[in-house]
Amino acid sequence: MPLLTTIAVGGLQTNCHILTADGSPECAVIDPGAEPQRVIDAVTAAGLKLRYILCTHGHADHTGGVALLQEELGGRFYLAAEDTGYSVDPPDWLVSALGGFTEPPEPDAELDDAETLALGRSAIKLIRTPGHTPGSTCFLYEGMVFTGDTLFRGSIGRYDLPGGDGRQELQSIRERLLTLADDTPVFPGHGPASTIGEERHTNPYLSGRV
Ligand SMILES: [Zn+2]
Repeated sequence: MPLLTTIAVGGLQTNCHILTADGSPECAVIDPGAEPQRVIDAVTAAGLKLRYILCTHGHADHTGGVALLQEELGGRFYLAAEDTGYSVDPPDWLVSALGGFTEPPEPDAELDDAETLALGRSAIKLIRTPGHTPGSTCFLYEGMVFTGDTLFRGSIGRYDLPGGDGRQELQSIRERLLTLADDTPVFPGHGPASTIGEERHTNPYLSGRV
Protein backbone atom coordinates (compact mmCIF):
# COMPACT_ATOMS: atom_id res chain seq x y z
CA MET A 1 0.00 0.00 0.00
CA PRO A 2 1.32 3.52 -0.76
CA LEU A 3 2.09 5.98 2.04
CA LEU A 4 -1.38 7.46 1.64
CA THR A 5 -4.67 5.88 0.61
CA THR A 6 -7.87 7.93 0.80
CA ILE A 7 -11.36 6.43 0.88
CA ALA A 8 -14.39 8.76 0.73
CA VAL A 9 -16.91 7.33 3.19
CA GLY A 10 -20.56 7.89 4.00
CA GLY A 11 -23.23 10.20 2.63
CA LEU A 12 -21.12 13.29 3.34
CA GLN A 13 -18.13 11.73 1.55
CA THR A 14 -15.69 12.23 4.39
CA ASN A 15 -12.11 11.63 3.30
CA CYS A 16 -10.82 8.77 5.43
CA HIS A 17 -7.03 8.56 5.12
CA ILE A 18 -4.91 5.48 5.71
CA LEU A 19 -1.26 6.33 6.41
CA THR A 20 1.40 3.66 6.12
CA ALA A 21 5.09 3.71 7.05
CA ASP A 22 8.15 2.66 5.04
CA GLY A 23 9.56 -0.63 6.24
CA SER A 24 6.87 -1.22 8.88
CA PRO A 25 3.47 -2.90 8.92
CA GLU A 26 2.04 -0.13 11.10
CA CYS A 27 -0.66 2.20 9.86
CA ALA A 28 -2.80 5.06 11.11
CA VAL A 29 -6.33 5.92 10.05
CA ILE A 30 -7.55 9.53 10.04
CA ASP A 31 -11.30 10.27 10.24
CA PRO A 32 -13.07 6.92 9.77
CA GLY A 33 -16.38 8.78 9.65
CA ALA A 34 -18.65 6.04 8.24
CA GLU A 35 -18.59 2.68 6.41
CA PRO A 36 -15.94 1.23 8.74
CA GLN A 37 -16.05 -2.13 6.96
CA ARG A 38 -14.50 -0.58 3.84
CA VAL A 39 -11.63 0.71 5.98
CA ILE A 40 -11.27 -2.60 7.81
CA ASP A 41 -11.13 -4.43 4.48
CA ALA A 42 -8.48 -2.10 3.06
CA VAL A 43 -6.25 -2.35 6.15
CA THR A 44 -6.68 -6.12 6.41
CA ALA A 45 -6.08 -6.76 2.70
CA ALA A 46 -2.81 -4.85 2.90
CA GLY A 47 -1.70 -6.89 5.93
CA LEU A 48 -1.33 -3.77 8.06
CA LYS A 49 -1.47 -3.37 11.81
CA LEU A 50 -3.62 -0.47 12.94
CA ARG A 51 -1.72 1.59 15.50
CA TYR A 52 -3.67 4.87 15.69
CA ILE A 53 -7.18 6.07 14.95
CA LEU A 54 -7.00 9.85 14.71
CA CYS A 55 -9.94 12.23 14.42
CA THR A 56 -9.39 15.77 13.19
CA HIS A 57 -12.41 16.82 15.24
CA GLY A 58 -15.47 15.44 16.97
CA HIS A 59 -18.23 15.85 14.37
CA ALA A 60 -20.21 12.69 13.67
CA ASP A 61 -19.19 12.48 10.00
CA HIS A 62 -15.56 12.15 11.15
CA THR A 63 -16.05 9.79 14.10
CA GLY A 64 -18.96 7.50 13.10
CA GLY A 65 -16.79 4.52 12.12
CA VAL A 66 -14.31 4.66 15.00
CA ALA A 67 -16.10 2.23 17.31
CA LEU A 68 -16.37 -0.66 14.83
CA LEU A 69 -12.91 -0.07 13.40
CA GLN A 70 -11.33 -0.19 16.85
CA GLU A 71 -13.40 -3.19 17.89
CA GLU A 72 -12.21 -5.11 14.84
CA LEU A 73 -8.59 -3.97 14.49
CA GLY A 74 -7.60 -2.31 17.77
CA GLY A 75 -5.43 0.81 17.74
CA ARG A 76 -5.34 3.79 20.04
CA PHE A 77 -8.07 6.35 19.49
CA TYR A 78 -7.07 9.99 19.74
CA LEU A 79 -9.45 12.94 19.82
CA ALA A 80 -9.02 16.38 21.36
CA ALA A 81 -10.64 16.62 24.79
CA GLU A 82 -12.63 19.71 23.78
CA ASP A 83 -14.45 17.72 21.09
CA THR A 84 -15.37 14.54 22.94
CA GLY A 85 -19.05 15.42 23.37
CA TYR A 86 -19.65 16.47 19.77
CA SER A 87 -20.94 13.24 18.32
CA VAL A 88 -22.97 12.01 21.26
CA ASP A 89 -26.57 11.53 20.18
CA PRO A 90 -26.41 13.23 16.75
CA PRO A 91 -29.75 14.22 15.16
CA ASP A 92 -31.62 11.57 13.17
CA TRP A 93 -31.28 13.39 9.85
CA LEU A 94 -27.51 13.37 10.25
CA VAL A 95 -27.38 9.69 11.18
CA SER A 96 -29.38 8.74 8.09
CA ALA A 97 -27.36 11.11 5.89
CA LEU A 98 -24.14 9.52 7.10
CA GLY A 99 -25.28 5.99 6.35
CA GLY A 100 -23.79 4.02 9.20
CA PHE A 101 -23.00 5.82 12.43
CA THR A 102 -21.96 4.32 15.75
CA GLU A 103 -21.30 6.56 18.72
CA PRO A 104 -17.51 6.69 19.20
CA PRO A 105 -15.89 5.27 22.33
CA GLU A 106 -14.08 7.47 24.83
CA PRO A 107 -10.70 8.47 23.39
CA ASP A 108 -7.73 6.47 24.68
CA ALA A 109 -5.75 9.66 24.77
CA GLU A 110 -6.31 13.33 24.20
CA LEU A 111 -4.44 15.29 21.60
CA ASP A 112 -1.85 17.79 22.76
CA ASP A 113 -0.46 20.47 20.53
CA ALA A 114 2.82 19.61 18.82
CA GLU A 115 2.75 16.06 20.13
CA THR A 116 4.24 13.49 17.77
CA LEU A 117 3.09 9.93 17.32
CA ALA A 118 5.69 7.50 16.06
CA LEU A 119 4.69 5.51 12.98
CA GLY A 120 7.38 3.17 11.67
CA ARG A 121 10.54 5.26 11.43
CA SER A 122 8.53 8.40 10.85
CA ALA A 123 6.08 10.38 12.99
CA ILE A 124 2.76 12.12 12.81
CA LYS A 125 2.84 15.66 14.21
CA LEU A 126 -0.24 17.28 15.69
CA ILE A 127 -1.15 20.88 14.91
CA ARG A 128 -4.01 22.28 16.95
CA THR A 129 -6.24 24.54 14.84
CA PRO A 130 -9.32 25.55 16.87
CA GLY A 131 -12.12 27.35 15.06
CA HIS A 132 -14.32 24.88 13.16
CA THR A 133 -14.63 23.18 16.55
CA PRO A 134 -12.68 24.01 19.71
CA GLY A 135 -10.67 20.79 19.41
CA SER A 136 -9.96 20.81 15.66
CA THR A 137 -6.54 19.34 14.96
CA CYS A 138 -4.51 18.90 11.77
CA PHE A 139 -1.95 16.17 11.22
CA LEU A 140 1.40 16.53 9.47
CA TYR A 141 2.96 13.35 8.13
CA GLU A 142 5.78 12.88 5.61
CA GLY A 143 5.35 16.46 4.41
CA MET A 144 1.58 16.12 3.87
CA VAL A 145 -0.96 17.99 5.99
CA PHE A 146 -4.42 16.60 6.80
CA THR A 147 -6.71 19.51 7.55
CA GLY A 148 -10.08 17.98 8.47
CA ASP A 149 -12.81 20.62 8.21
CA THR A 150 -10.46 23.51 8.97
CA LEU A 151 -9.14 24.11 5.44
CA PHE A 152 -10.65 22.93 2.14
CA ARG A 153 -9.55 23.49 -1.43
CA GLY A 154 -10.88 26.99 -2.12
CA SER A 155 -12.82 27.25 1.11
CA ILE A 156 -12.67 26.92 4.87
CA GLY A 157 -14.77 24.95 7.34
CA ARG A 158 -18.05 26.37 8.57
CA TYR A 159 -17.88 28.12 11.90
CA ASP A 160 -21.59 28.64 12.55
CA LEU A 161 -22.06 25.25 14.24
CA PRO A 162 -22.01 24.99 18.05
CA GLY A 163 -18.53 25.78 19.38
CA GLY A 164 -17.40 27.27 16.06
CA ASP A 165 -15.48 30.55 15.94
CA GLY A 166 -14.70 32.11 12.54
CA ARG A 167 -12.12 34.59 13.76
CA GLN A 168 -10.26 31.85 15.60
CA GLU A 169 -10.49 29.56 12.57
CA LEU A 170 -8.85 32.13 10.28
CA GLN A 171 -6.21 32.80 12.89
CA SER A 172 -5.46 29.08 13.19
CA ILE A 173 -5.13 28.77 9.40
CA ARG A 174 -2.91 31.84 9.05
CA GLU A 175 -0.65 31.13 12.01
CA ARG A 176 -0.48 27.34 11.96
CA LEU A 177 -1.10 26.17 8.38
CA LEU A 178 0.01 28.97 6.07
CA THR A 179 3.35 28.89 7.86
CA LEU A 180 4.01 25.56 6.12
CA ALA A 181 5.90 25.52 2.83
CA ASP A 182 3.97 26.36 -0.37
CA ASP A 183 4.55 22.91 -1.84
CA THR A 184 3.01 21.09 1.17
CA PRO A 185 0.17 18.88 -0.10
CA VAL A 186 -3.14 19.55 1.68
CA PHE A 187 -5.65 16.73 2.21
CA PRO A 188 -8.94 18.10 3.54
CA GLY A 189 -11.72 16.24 5.33
CA HIS A 190 -13.98 16.57 2.30
CA GLY A 191 -13.34 17.22 -1.39
CA PRO A 192 -10.18 17.39 -3.48
CA ALA A 193 -6.58 17.86 -2.37
CA SER A 194 -4.64 21.09 -2.73
CA THR A 195 -1.37 22.64 -1.61
CA ILE A 196 -0.59 25.31 0.98
CA GLY A 197 0.64 27.61 -1.82
CA GLU A 198 -2.53 27.19 -3.87
CA GLU A 199 -4.67 28.04 -0.84
CA ARG A 200 -2.44 30.93 0.18
CA HIS A 201 -2.78 32.50 -3.26
CA THR A 202 -6.29 31.52 -4.43
CA ASN A 203 -8.49 30.69 -1.43
CA PRO A 204 -10.95 33.63 -1.24
CA TYR A 205 -11.23 33.34 2.55
CA LEU A 206 -7.48 33.79 2.92
CA SER A 207 -6.84 36.59 0.46
CA GLY A 208 -9.32 39.04 1.96
CA ARG A 209 -11.70 38.82 -1.01
CA VAL A 210 -14.65 37.60 1.07
ZN1 LIG B 1 -16.91 19.12 10.91
